Amino acid sequence: MDLYSLTIHEAHELLKKREISSVELASAVFDRIGQVDDKVCAYLTPAKDRAMADAGAADELIRRGEMRPLTGIPLAIKDILCTEGIRTTCGSKILEDFIPPYSSTVAKKLADAHAVIAGKTNLDEFAMGSSTEHSAFMPTHNPWDLTRIPGGSSGGSAAAVAADECIGAIGTDTGGSIRQPCSHCGAVGLKPTYGRVSRFGLVAFASSLDQIGPITKDVTDCALLMNEICGHDPMDSTSVSRSVPDYTEALRPGLQGLVVGIPKEYRAEGMDEDVTEAVTAAIKVIEGLGARCKEVSLPHTQYALATYYLIAPAEASSNLARYDGVKYGFRDNTADDLTQMYQNTRSNGFGPEVQRRIIIGTYALSAGYYEAYYGKASQVRTLIIEDFKRTFETCDVLLSPVTPTPAFKLGEKLDDPLAMYLSDIFTLPANLAGIPGLSVPCGFSKQGLPIGLQILGKHFDEEKLIRVAYNFEQATDYHTRRPRL
Ligand code: GLN
Repeated sequence: MDLYSLTIHEAHELLKKREISSVELASAVFDRIGQVDDKVCAYLTPAKDRAMADAGAADELIRRGEMRPLTGIPLAIKDILCTEGIRTTCGSKILEDFIPPYSSTVAKKLADAHAVIAGKTNLDEFAMGSSTEHSAFMPTHNPWDLTRIPGGSSGGSAAAVAADECIGAIGTDTGGSIRQPCSHCGAVGLKPTYGRVSRFGLVAFASSLDQIGPITKDVTDCALLMNEICGHDPMDSTSVSRSVPDYTEALRPGLQGLVVGIPKEYRAEGMDEDVTEAVTAAIKVIEGLGARCKEVSLPHTQYALATYYLIAPAEASSNLARYDGVKYGFRDNTADDLTQMYQNTRSNGFGPEVQRRIIIGTYALSAGYYEAYYGKASQVRTLIIEDFKRTFETCDVLLSPVTPTPAFKLGEKLDDPLAMYLSDIFTLPANLAGIPGLSVPCGFSKQGLPIGLQILGKHFDEEKLIRVAYNFEQATDYHTRRPRL
């Protein structure tokens, strides 16, 4: 048995029965990283020494019978969550050598659960992108086809899960960055409701949209990770004070009586035939499990892309103002005066996509334009929220594709920002509305590339998404397939 290919719940059972140890499991994961990561390039910073020490400590706890669901399980964390003592780059040259003095709440919760942190995974710089090609260090490759992108911006986490370079992972989703790479890599990914998971220690991209969530090999693991990372945090005032359910209780058979909406606007021009076929077939499977499907309309969907690409860059331009060469990371030392130092630091420290966003965002927020751009986008955002509210009066969940096409080729959209932005067309609305969204594998293209089904739900109704995804997963075998590397 290849230990690295285990899921969280499988590994947990074996650890509990003492058939394997956490040290053996972590060694297997690092052997796997050694074998395949020069091809996949999922990790920016593997943290082997620390992970092996944590695994040893976890084994000790297990021996003493003090075991929780994540004890001794090697997990990867997207390199935009601060991890005390482990370099946190955000995929940017500007933070290349930044070692945070504290941990994000999520990293801390995982450590408190005695999970083993295997390392930090690659991403588009500051999570801005859909392909992981905007990482300042290297692109990640899709484990199913190394000539293709893994999706982004959590491409490193999704590829690491798909390539069995960790047992599970953490990603972040501002406009699709968990769901889209999961769809492209054949993993399960959940963007929780805005406020469900603390963002403390998550390096901010667009603060009104960012959420942290699990990236896993199956739906059961998704529920297990949710149980550990959710909950109110006094350090994040947007985290909601609401009890956390046991998400594994949603892992039960039956979808009888469930009303599923199929939004008619979630069909894009130029949509890939294989995606349409896989999603249509998936909807049939869910109907066959007892759900009732009906077409619904979310008329403001057509404005979501424009709205997002004003709000996200505007918030980013403000959040990224702190990287000025004074407090953190990279500083240009050639300048003669302070203004020149700021300018050189930011021009040389940020990559082209981040600079593009800062310029768009600064413009959208500038005096005289604020009302016309950020103000207008915020109004349209309200209309998008109302579309969902109205629809959820008569539906439990919505089903749609995650992306219009399977993973595209590396380099294919790099010179065409608009084409890159369009790959998020189905994932952005959930962030604008703050609702949860899940991606579950629902088929393969003729070329053998994974395709994901998106399940959207009401605020704080993650359990229903997990229930639908679980039932779908039980009825299909897509999640059992692994790429050959
Ligand atoms: N691809 C989108 C963007 O570039 C979403 C990124 C994300 O969710 N972090 O903004």
